[in-house]
Formats: sequence, C-alpha cells, structure tokens
Amino acid sequence: MKNLSDTIEFAQKLIIKKSVTPKDDGAIKTLKSKLSKMGFINTELPFGSKKNNDLILNLFSINKSAHPKHKTLCFAGHTDVVPEGNTKNWKFDPFLGKVSNGKLHGRGASDMKGAIAAWVIACRNALKKKKLNISLALLITGDEEGVAINGTIKVVKWLKQKKINIDYCVVGEPTNPNYIGEMIKVGRRGSLSFSLEVLGKSGHVAYPHLAKNPVSSLINVCNQLNNLKLNLKAKNFPLTNLEVTSIDTGNPTSNVIPSTCKALINIRYNTRYNEKILVKKIKDIFLKEPCSFRLEIISSNKPFYTKADKFLSLLEKSIYKVTKKKPALSTTGGTSDARFIKDICPVYEFGSVGKTMHQINENINIRDLESLQKIYEELILSYNDLCS
Ligand SMILES: [Zn+2]
Repeated sequence: MKNLSDTIEFAQKLIIKKSVTPKDDGAIKTLKSKLSKMGFINTELPFGSKKNNDLILNLFSINKSAHPKHKTLCFAGHTDVVPEGNTKNWKFDPFLGKVSNGKLHGRGASDMKGAIAAWVIACRNALKKKKLNISLALLITGDEEGVAINGTIKVVKWLKQKKINIDYCVVGEPTNPNYIGEMIKVGRRGSLSFSLEVLGKSGHVAYPHLAKNPVSSLINVCNQLNNLKLNLKAKNFPLTNLEVTSIDTGNPTSNVIPSTCKALINIRYNTRYNEKILVKKIKDIFLKEPCSFRLEIISSNKPFYTKADKFLSLLEKSIYKVTKKKPALSTTGGTSDARFIKDICPVYEFGSVGKTMHQINENINIRDLESLQKIYEELILSYNDLCS
C-alpha cells in the first residue's frame, strides 16, 4: 500500500500545478525536484521565446548511475494539460487532486500526470531494489496538447546533437480505453488535413446562367470523396477513413450565388497509403469538375508502426503479470509525440485508462494507477535482466 500512496501523492502534486498548455505553473520544477532527490541529473530545455510568447519548458532527466555502455530506457510524457472548461461543471476543483470513492480526480489525472507519477515511483523502486545495468531517462515536455512545436520535436533534435542514445521509449499516453492492460499502441495512423476551395462566379439566384455555383461543385466532389474506396488493409491498423468536417461559403444571403466555397477534410490513414497517393486520388476527382479548385494542405503526419520485438514482449509480460490481461496491439486514436520519438528508437505507448481524458471530471481509478506503477516497475526490472 505504501507505493500506492507515493504514486497518488506525487500525481496530486503534479495535478495542483495549473499547467494548462502552454503554461507550466511549476509542474516541471515539481518533477525536477523529485527526480533530483532520487539521484537523477536534470537538464531543463526551454524552447521558444518569452518575446514570442511561446516559451516552453521541457525536461530531460537521467539517473546518475547511468553509464555510456548501458542501454537506455526512456519514458516520454507531457506535463501540460488541456483547459478545464467551466470549473462549475466539475464535481471537484480540477486542480485539487481530490481522492474520492477510489478515484483520483483532476485535470491531467488520466492524460497524463498519473502515468508520469507511476513511472517516477517505478524508477525509484527499481533503483532501490537492484543495482541496474540499464540507464533510466525521462523526456518530459510542456508542449504536447498545444501546437507541439517547442516540445518533443526539439528535445529529440537536442538528443541527436548531444549524441545521447536511447534504446527504447515508452510513451505514457492513456492508451487503455476501459481497463488497465487492455491496449498497447504500436504506431499511429497518418493524418492528412486539407482544405478544398472552389472558385466559382457569384450572381443572382434568378439568373443562374450568368453565375457558376461553387456550392454545387463542392457538394458533388465531397460526395465522391465520401465514397472513395480506401480499403487497403495494414496489420494492427484500422481502415483508412476520410471525413468532411466543414463546408462553408461565408454567405449570409439566400438569393446570392457565392463566388467561393471551401471544405475542410481530414484523412486518417494506414501504412498502405501516403500523402502523394491520397492527393492524387483527390485531384482525380475534382479535375473532372467544371469549376476550378484550390487544394491546400493544412497538416500532414506520416503513419508509423513499431514492429514487435523482445521489448514489446517484455511489456506484454509485465502487463500480464500485474493484470492477467493480454493487451491488444493497436494504432487507433489521434496522434501523439511518439511520432517524433520513432525517428530515434522503437517506441511503444502504454499508460492510463483514457475514458475521461480531456473531459469534465477527468479522473483515474486509484487501483488502475497502482497497477500501472507495478507494470512500469516490472518492465524496468525485466529489461534490466534482459540487458544484464
Ligand atoms: Zn496526452
């Protein structure tokens, strides 16, 4: 029970820091001082600038007994949280870290201050139990829930510059949909966001022959996009999906044909597709239309997949040992910072139960958090055995 209270207590200390992205409010400092006491060497990595109002605190931490010949196991996570919304709608103050009815409540409990606390305590226990032959590192950012330009992406660049090697990384995002031990993320889908604007000709609705209605063209194109066959399958990936999320003319009047109309579209795709193939498919559709179109890519992230190896089976075994559950391997959900880390080492994601993440009354089951801490500890010790 002692470990449970240590994990919960430390999670509470992180939750009371109002680190609503991009603010830090002392969250990184709290983590730093805990890690210092455990004998970790901390490097604070501020990126961005005060002048541009985008200064972000990041942290790279590694245990003192680390050795260049050691394999390095890294945990990656974020201390920033999404806004709490209207506090009045919360059962408990979102920045109090209230424990009630077997649950720890607060913004970040699930996503992902709980998991950070679980990893920190797992490190402390593992280091107490054994003289480790592996190095333990933490890569923590304050810029995951926001624009993510001064966070993990820059820390990864810094690691490369400093020639700091990482052998494996566990990202502590809330990967379990309902219960702990349910799901490991072994990659993520690609995401292509783009706008499609039709350039028509405005005019009076009573004289349509003098105008070119862009709305009709765009509806036609969107309909074909909805019916586009994107059914190539990839292992552990869901099917590729396209969603039209907005069709807008900005036209407040009903008797004027507008001159332009714009749609916003997002495609979540598996490893059988890429940006080039998708853009070609879209162009093939609108090039058949009489109106001219302008396609603009808003954001584009490639899909990635981490192949099963010895480390993944250690993670699976650790999960089974603690929970008696066999986790599914999945790539569902939105994007995460794993997309930056996969460039330097194999990365797997396993964290809390995500049922209430980003919601009012975000919380985590205390027993789940205790299990997560034990799983992490088991993983550290078994990876140490593998490397010894
Ligand atoms: Zn998160």
